[in-house]
Amino acid sequence: MPPKSKKAYSLETELVFSKSNDQYNASVPPLYQSATFKQASLDNMGEYDYTRSGNPTRTYLQNNMARIMKAEHAFAVTSGMGCLDVITRLLSPGDEVIAGDDLYGGTHRLLTYLNNKGDLKVHHHDTTNTELIISKISSATKMIFLESPTNPLIKVVDVRSISKAAHEINPDIIIVFDNTMMSPVLMTPLDLGVDIQYESATKYLNGHHDIMAGIIATRSAQLAERVYFVINSTGCGLSPFDSWLLCRGLKTLAIRVERQQENCQKIAQFLSNTGFKVRYPGLKDHPQHELHKSMCRGFGGVLSFETGNIKMSEKIVENTDIFGIAVSFGCVNSLISMPCKMSHASIDAKTREERDFPEDLIRLCIGIENSDDLIDDLTKALLKSGAVKVNDRDELFNAVNVQFKL
Ligand SMILES: *Cc1c(COP(=O)(O)O)cnc(C)c1O
Repeated sequence: MPPKSKKAYSLETELVFSKSNDQYNASVPPLYQSATFKQASLDNMGEYDYTRSGNPTRTYLQNNMARIMKAEHAFAVTSGMGCLDVITRLLSPGDEVIAGDDLYGGTHRLLTYLNNKGDLKVHHHDTTNTELIISKISSATKMIFLESPTNPLIKVVDVRSISKAAHEINPDIIIVFDNTMMSPVLMTPLDLGVDIQYESATKYLNGHHDIMAGIIATRSAQLAERVYFVINSTGCGLSPFDSWLLCRGLKTLAIRVERQQENCQKIAQFLSNTGFKVRYPGLKDHPQHELHKSMCRGFGGVLSFETGNIKMSEKIVENTDIFGIAVSFGCVNSLISMPCKMSHASIDAKTREERDFPEDLIRLCIGIENSDDLIDDLTKALLKSGAVKVNDRDELFNAVNVQFKL
């Protein structure tokens, strides 16, 4: 196991700093593509025996992640949903949990499955309403699932207040926070009172859309032991090769996120100036702009906006060139999607309507490209779709003060 460095550096440095006890002093983590490890003798098992239980490349990644997430313990598993599967296995039959009503589609699907089977009793509430959530916490509540900002509705949750109030009611309630949207660069949920933080590493952490992975982190030795037990029992630990790729992706996390949110802020401003209803916590008119600022170091690289017309939204999505039509986010390249038809199609139309989920909503996941090129690409799509009239063009261009290449 690589030695933990004594001094904690700032996050940007920790992401690229590597200290290992590799026998050849390899400057990057070596890949141990081996399922088994020989024992020195019958009685001496050594540190590793079987990769399901532990692998040096995965350990290297986990130690690095623990430092970055300011956790004591971090575990790498095969996907973000794999994290949630492990975490829900800590519960007992019939346990009650509180979950947001605007969670990631896959999270909603797994919790609904467990609820319908009778494994758990899941209560969905609007987690942006702190008082409502606190009023719903009872002695039967065992876990609370939070996500902030939610996507694509970009609703911000007061993580500090909910965690504090829940722990006052019952110190054993486990607050679980999905930090996929902000990444450790912009948010440290464990500092806000959360017990378990998890993230889909498929998104920002890896940043290149070439692996699926998830990270679970905690400061509690007792929770860590239980989480490890489930991972070892079910065999969902991240493979050595994917761990190695994730180590590589992580090195550029800080500069990627910095550039993505710089681009995103410009695009949010551009769309807002053009007259669309834009959801982005970095805009001063976002209803929870200040709350978000009080918890995070930035606003991230995902925004959504409404056009008021489903057909028009479809045309915009189909007429971009640089923005690829794809689910997911956090990659170096920009993506565009219509959540109702794609990532959130697993939530039925009736539930979407109950939750005021606009069917015309377009989500943009911003990459590290040149921001003028991105705005140029969007402008062409807006004009082609008729969302913006050609007469508005001069005004539109002046609004952003960028050189268009139409
Ligand atoms: C993608 C995503 C997940 C699921 O992660 P996978 O790696 O795709 O399994 C969970 N939560 C959020 C917020 C996500 O965006």
